[in-house]
Order: sequence, then structure tokens, then C-alpha cells
Amino acid sequence: MTGRPLITKAKNTWCPGCGNFTIQHTLKNVLAEMEQEGQSLDNVVLVSGIGCHAKIADYLNINSFYSIHGRTIPVATGIKLANPGLTVICCAGDGDCYAEGLDHLLFAAKRNIDITVIVHDNRVYGLTTGQYTPTSPRGFKGKSTPLGTEETPLNPIELMLAGGATYVARGYSKKMDLLRAQIRESIAHKGFAFIDVLQICATFFPAADYYSPRVYEMTGHDRTNFEAACAKAREWDYTSDAPIALGTFYQKASPVFGEGKMAAWKPGAVERERAVQDLLRKRT
Ligand code: SF4
Repeated sequence: MTGRPLITKAKNTWCPGCGNFTIQHTLKNVLAEMEQEGQSLDNVVLVSGIGCHAKIADYLNINSFYSIHGRTIPVATGIKLANPGLTVICCAGDGDCYAEGLDHLLFAAKRNIDITVIVHDNRVYGLTTGQYTPTSPRGFKGKSTPLGTEETPLNPIELMLAGGATYVARGYSKKMDLLRAQIRESIAHKGFAFIDVLQICATFFPAADYYSPRVYEMTGHDRTNFEAACAKAREWDYTSDAPIALGTFYQKASPVFGEGKMAAWKPGAVERERAVQDLLRKRT
């Protein structure tokens, strides 16, 4: 099917001003470009988790799997391994993927699963009305932390670099051109591609006044240099007033999970071989 309307007729319930809109429209534009270039969108699967972001699976008219909290990545991994010909894109939330699903995120990076993960990092649990998440800034006041959180936020860029991700980027929901380029690159990248998108939550963490004066697009950064990527990742700690680098921190080519010996594996083949050997042994 080509030329389909890429936005469904489902009623959109995101709050006015939510950064999810720009992420959705950017992804939609990338999908439209892919289709215009001759790629069939029938070979694209979107997996979302649970949270405000996850409704994107209702709003984009492509194959999708609305999974459960924290499990976007294992679902996406299963889809990719079952049918390696598919382009698999995960949209996950920060609560979804840096809290309950953190182990899955790390192991997908470590294994270099060939999927794209776009994290709608609004740094708050929006759907459940404003609790702190692993990336909320120190001092964040929300429903569960009325006096301000005392925790230091995770730095997902550092985490993914340490975990072995082969494409690591940071976007911003108010920089659609950059995000478009990042999503295109991440889909084209062979291996585990990760984009942490600083996303405005208009209702519970309206941080545009904080982000907009601080963000800058990296120029002259060598994305093949791991040490330089780590240094850039540490420039901002998700709480301070330091400049916030946007762009691609790191990219490298590396063997992809499932394309080595596993590519020749057929379910049951090992068991069948063992049964044949047992039979032959009994006969001799
Ligand atoms: Fe967007 Fe926040 Fe509203 Fe959720 S609560 S739809 S993240 S603005």
C-alpha cells in the first residue's frame, strides 16, 4: 500500500503544546520520505510502550505494536529477530525505558540489536500526572516528590555509550530539522540506534524556557571518537545550567546481533540433530 494517509483518525488526546506532536510529525515526515524513495512502509513496524508517548501507535498509520510498560525493547527485539527484513522503530518514554525497562535498553545496546529507539524524554510521568522519573532534575517537585527529588538524574547518553550502543544522539522536540536528520540516520544505521529526545511536557514539566537558551547543535565533533563522545556527554548532567549539546555523539560499525551464527539457526534444528545422533548411537 502506498500513499496512505500517515495520520489516523483516532482522537488525539495529547495536551496542547506537548512535544509529542513534533516527534510524531517528524517521524511521519521521515516515513513519507522513505515511501517517496520507494521503500514500502509495509516493512516498517512501530513499537510503543506505556505513557503519553505510547499513543503515537494509535496516531500513526503504520504497522504497530502497543506494548506494555518497560517492554518496548524486548517486543521490538523479538519482531526484528523473527523477521530481520523489517525496519523496527521503538518509541519509548523515559519512565518506560530508563526505569522499569532499563535492563532491556542496556542489553539491546550491548547486543547491538538492529533497531531504532526514540525516547520521548519529558523527564516526568505525564500520563499518571507528574511523578518524577530517572531523568527528572535534582530538586524536581511533583506528585511523589512535593519537597523536590534528592536523586541525581541518569545521563542516558553516558549510559548508552557505556552500554555499547553504536549510534547515540540527543534531539530536542523544538528542533524538528535536526530530529528529522537524526531519525533518518538512525533508521539507516546498521545496529542499535538511540536518540534521547528532550521533549516538552506542557503540563507537568514545561521546560522550554530552560532548554531553549542552553541547547546548541554540535559542530566539529568527531562522532567516531568514543572519548570525545564521553566528554561531550558529561558537559551537561541533566540538572545544571551548562550548555546542552544536541546532535550525534557517537557512531560506529559493529557486528549486529542475529547476523552471525544465529542467522543459520532454525527453531528445533539443534533438537532434531540431537535426536538423530541419539538414534544412530542406539543402533550401533
Ligand atoms: Fe504531553 Fe505532558 Fe500532556 Fe502527557 S501530560 S500529553 S507528555 S503535555
